Formats: sequence, C-alpha cells, structure tokens
Amino acid sequence: RAKSGGGDRLAAYDPAMLAGLVERLELEADLRVALTRDELALHYQPTVDLRTGEITGFEALVRWYHPTRGMVSPLDFIGTAEATGLIVPLGRWVLTEACRQAVAWGAGTTRRLKMAVNVSVRQFEHGDLAAMVAEVLAETGMPVDQLCLEMTESVLLTDTDENLAQLHRLKDLGVTLAMDDFGTGYSSLAYLRRFPMDTLKIDRSFVDRLGGEHEDEALVSTIVRLGRSLGMTTVAEGIEDSVQLAVLKELRCDYAQGYYLSRPLPAAEAGRVLEEGLATALGEPVASPR
Ligand code: C2E
Ligand code: MG
Ligand code: MG
Ligand code: MG
Repeated sequence: RAKSGGGDRLAAYDPAMLAGLVERLELEADLRVALTRDELALHYQPTVDLRTGEITGFEALVRWYHPTRGMVSPLDFIGTAEATGLIVPLGRWVLTEACRQAVAWGAGTTRRLKMAVNVSVRQFEHGDLAAMVAEVLAETGMPVDQLCLEMTESVLLTDTDENLAQLHRLKDLGVTLAMDDFGTGYSSLAYLRRFPMDTLKIDRSFVDRLGGEHEDEALVSTIVRLGRSLGMTTVAEGIEDSVQLAVLKELRCDYAQGYYLSRPLPAAEAGRVLEEGLATALGEPVASPR
C-alpha cells in the first residue's frame, strides 16, 4: 500500500517509492515461503544472574537465512510479518521451536531453565494467545513455569481491556510475563501496576549511557527500585562492557544480557555454553559471586 495523503497515483509514479513497494512485496512473498521451507532459525542469548554469574536461561531471537539476501535481521522483517498477519504462524513457529529446544536442553527434568520468547502485539489481536501457548506447551512438553513471554509497552496501550484479559489468562496458565524495552514507550506507572508483569527489561538505551554521567546511573537505579517495589525482577539489556556490568551489579539489578556476556548464539553453541558456562565462551569469568 502506498502512503495515504499524497494519493496512490502520485506515489505509484515516484520511482523510489515504487521500488520500495516492490521490495516490500518481494520480502512479503519470500517470508511466506520461508515459513514453509527451512529458512528460519532461532538464536539464543543467555541471561545471566548478576549475583552468581550463572546462566539462568535464554532469550530466543528469530533469524531468517534468505536464499539470496543472506541473513535478514528481525528488525527488517518482523514489521512486515506484523503488517501481513504472517506474525501469527511465525510467532507460533518461534514459540514451538524455543520450547522444543528448552526441553531438549533438559527443561522439565532436573534443569531449571527460563526460555524467553518475544511476542508481538499483533498476536494478541489474533484470537486466544493463551490457548495457543497452552497447545504448544502440551505439544512440546515444556513446563509452563520455565516459559517467559516478552512484550513491549504497546500491548498495554492498545485494546487495553482485551489485552489485559489475555494477559491474565496467560498468568493463570503460569507463564512469566516480561515488559521488554522498558522506558522507551509511554506506559505510566498506573499501567505498570495494573498489568500482571513479573519482569522489567531495562532498555539498552539506558544501559548504554552507564559509566558516564551520574544522572544516567540515577535513572537506571530508579528503574531497578521501581521494579522491585512493584514486586518485579529486573533484567538489563545490552551490556557491552565491564563498567556497565559492574554498575548494574552495584545497583542490584537481578539479571543481565548483552554482547559483553554473550551474543545470541546458534542452538549448538548455546547448548555448549549451558554445559560449560560462559567463562569458557568468553575466555574470562563473566561475574564473580558477591
Ligand atoms: P529485543 O526483544 O529487545 O531483543 C534484543 C535485541 O538486542 C536483539 O536484537 C539482540 O541481538 C540485541 N542485543 C543483545 N545484546 C546486545 C548488545 O549488547 N548490544 C546491542 N547493540 N544489541 C544487543 P535482534 O535479535 O536483532 O532482535 C531485534 C528485535 O526484533 C527484538 O528486540 C524483538 O523486538 C524482535 N524480535 C526478535 N525475534 C523475535 C521473535 O521471534 N518474535 C517477535 N515478535 N519479535 C522478535
Ligand atoms: Mg526481547
Ligand atoms: Mg528488548
Ligand atoms: Mg527491542
């Protein structure tokens, strides 16, 4: 669809816009096919307990190996998947694959392993998310208490009452709920209290600024304490250096993710890291017990 306002006819004669449209349609057609072939894969980024340095779980992040374009970032196709509704089958595939992998790694046996899966606000609009999740849990044998669903603040801002009802159904199932990219949206404290979220993920943009200005540290400290006072655990995203790691430990943030700890890894490598710990993967200890 061409941008409204200027009129479709005008837009269709703009070569740059036409090229953009063709590009989008191609991507859309390719994505449809990708789902039926073997072009999608999940990478897994470890979540580390800042007190113990242990890996407590992973976040599943989808990757698309396009036959001619190579690896396409989710930032470049999740939007298309959302706009076309393909996010619904794609989201189910991601959830199934992540649960299957967690079970293969021993989730549900003696191993405690939290698997976090991103869900789009569009998946809330397409039927009963809790019913879909329940089906996938049953199909894969994934224990519900080891699944975490991550969503952005947009879920709280549109169709608030219906989404709230769906979130409660997910909570009733026993799923852990995380607010992703916290601090970048517009949700107020009132929203945060009203929604049954267990975990706050502090957006990377705040972590980025740690180690410099004192005010930035105060801001992150406030978010950590906000989370705690609401009974939520806190996860810092996007840790890229040892200074950020040290500050977050000092601020008593609970968990952390980031390239400094580990990039998202293909399943085989993630499995190895799970067995051997990150020390081997990084060649240095990631965090020492306090
Ligand atoms: P997100 O859920 O906030 O995931 C974190 C993103 O930050 C990931 O990008 C991850 O690779 C990246 N990241 C992790 N540590 C660092 C770091 O230290 N520095 C920097 N610069 N980046 C870091 P990725 O994998 O490209 O995914 C981007 C976004 O796409 C995700 O943001 C999420 O919103 C969406 N996404 C990814 N997979 C899925 C999926 O299966 N379903 C849905 N609905 N969305 C997904
Ligand atoms: Mg996420
Ligand atoms: Mg995030
Ligand atoms: Mg994000």
